[in-house]
Amino acid sequence: MQTTLYSFDDSLKKIENEIRKCKKCPLYRMRKNAVPGEGGHKKKIMFIGEAPGRREDELGRPFVGAAGKFLDELLGEIGLSREDVYITNVVKCRPPNNRDPTDEEISLCSPYLERQIEALKPRIICPLGRFSAKYILEKYGFEMSTISKVQGKIFEGEVIIIPMYHPAAALYHQNLKDDLRRSFKVLSDML
Ligand code: URA
Ligand code: SF4
Repeated sequence: MQTTLYSFDDSLKKIENEIRKCKKCPLYRMRKNAVPGEGGHKKKIMFIGEAPGRREDELGRPFVGAAGKFLDELLGEIGLSREDVYITNVVKCRPPNNRDPTDEEISLCSPYLERQIEALKPRIICPLGRFSAKYILEKYGFEMSTISKVQGKIFEGEVIIIPMYHPAAALYHQNLKDDLRRSFKVLSDML
């Protein structure tokens, strides 16, 4: 009989430590560091990216490269700091050459994300990019169309979901940058 999936004392720290040692999928062979996620839990806001990049893999921390600098800037513009939000990814280890994560990697790694969500109990989830938006929207019973259609919209159910463009995609495209800023304004209006 399966009553609960996870023990009730499954804390974020405990999950982070498990992820650092994980060898459940082949990505562990190529990583320098797994990137579990980090941040504060009091405001109950969760940002979920796709997978670590080179810099993240080197440091074992999420969003510390160029996309991360831009994310910090966007957070700052609405009066939030990194410590106010919990930041993680769908897949916790870097895919080689930053290729897209495979369905298999996502399905092997996502139990960690599920546990992080269960432990944090976010009020608002902001998925960044299409992989994360698809995962989160479908998890909560919404249909994913394309990232350009869902970004900046509010999906309200058990939690509030605001899908956004990935900051790495927006970095070099002014129109996506403007959209991403508008999404942060949507988030800011919810707070
Ligand atoms: N891109 C992501 O999706 N996640 C990171 O942590 C860094 C870049
Ligand atoms: Fe484990 Fe996820 Fe890393 Fe694969 S990507 S080794 S499942 S933590």
